[in-house]
Amino acid sequence: MRYSEHANPVITLTAGPVNCYPEVLRGLGRTVLYDYDPAFQLFYENVVGKAQKAMRLSSKPVILHGEPVLGLEAAAASLITPDDVVLNLVSGVYGKGFGYWAKRYSPHLLEIEVPYNEAIDPQAVADMLKAHPEITIVSVCHHDTPSGTINPIDEIGALVSAHGGYLIVDAVSSFAGMKTHPDDCKADIYVTGPGKCLGAPPALTILGVSERAWAKMKANKAAPRASMLSIVDWENAWSRDQPFPFTPAVAEINGLDAALDLYLNEGPEAVWARHALTAKAMRAGVVAMGLSIWAASDKIASPTTTSVRTPEGVDEKTIREAARSRYGVVFSSGRSETLGKLTRIGHMGPTAQPIYAIAALTAFGGALNAAGQKLAVGKGVEAAMAVIDADA
Ligand SMILES: *Cc1c(COP(=O)(O)O)cnc(C)c1O
Repeated sequence: MRYSEHANPVITLTAGPVNCYPEVLRGLGRTVLYDYDPAFQLFYENVVGKAQKAMRLSSKPVILHGEPVLGLEAAAASLITPDDVVLNLVSGVYGKGFGYWAKRYSPHLLEIEVPYNEAIDPQAVADMLKAHPEITIVSVCHHDTPSGTINPIDEIGALVSAHGGYLIVDAVSSFAGMKTHPDDCKADIYVTGPGKCLGAPPALTILGVSERAWAKMKANKAAPRASMLSIVDWENAWSRDQPFPFTPAVAEINGLDAALDLYLNEGPEAVWARHALTAKAMRAGVVAMGLSIWAASDKIASPTTTSVRTPEGVDEKTIREAARSRYGVVFSSGRSETLGKLTRIGHMGPTAQPIYAIAALTAFGGALNAAGQKLAVGKGVEAAMAVIDADA
């Protein structure tokens, strides 16, 4: 074994957490200021302003100080009341998971569930809203990461908005890796974080909240207050004139600042383009090598994660183990329903560079061949190079 499991791998190509940009690591190393120091309060206000710009929001986003599962659970706890009828859209593990939280706050839960290699059809949502005018809240995961598939949230958002419902979107693993913003999908609560395509550590939630969602949460007597799950308490925390409800994650804010600077300075369109190109090259290579993509069609395949279906008769875990021990390359497994059925190659933040598709293809193909497959790794590399060079 060339690469010991006790030493760091050479290349981490996971679907989150991802290796951070060097500039983010330097950001994390900045001084940890006292949170009530005026310099920190001004800094915090500026960081929220940068997040607002990145999210193309007209109002200030909210930062919660825990990784995005906190934001998702807080959204359910704050917005959903026992009187609400929730339509949860399920095309994967995260979509399914949100339903369990929704159910905790309202007994009225409807779901549309599709196979975990497919995406939600907007027509099915339109039909459901028509059949159930009592639906008040719709929840959807944009990029269901354990599947590597994308839901059409802008179309779904337009339908929910016309229906007069509230929309909760999990955009944790898509925001900053493709064109998606809270206003594009008319989200009332849009949940994302720095730990995926922004290339920072996984320790904060960033929330876009609409005016009407603020009003609904504030009117909800049961919405968490004086709690880690509170969104309401943090409404004005962005302002240097407001005290923090509790100590913010100062070092993480330092890292987020650096990540947002990188994103805004490189230019969002350029960042999205290198995510898309890396994924396109990866898919071309996977297919040319004789493997298949998990997503039912290219149209719904994520630009930030490529999920490759595990060939018949192969134990998925052995692929990842061989890729790491032979080549020092780390991939992500599936999760719950998709565990063992696919391997995920992340293209997020610093690893959303086409050359990493080549590294991924060689390590992945090599690992499978070590397991007895006879894949044409060279053909995969050539196909990926053709995609990359066509874009040059
Ligand atoms: C990563 C991710 C989250 C954050 O939760 P984890 O604790 O990292 O699982 C939430 N939603 C999606 C779609 C994600 O990819």
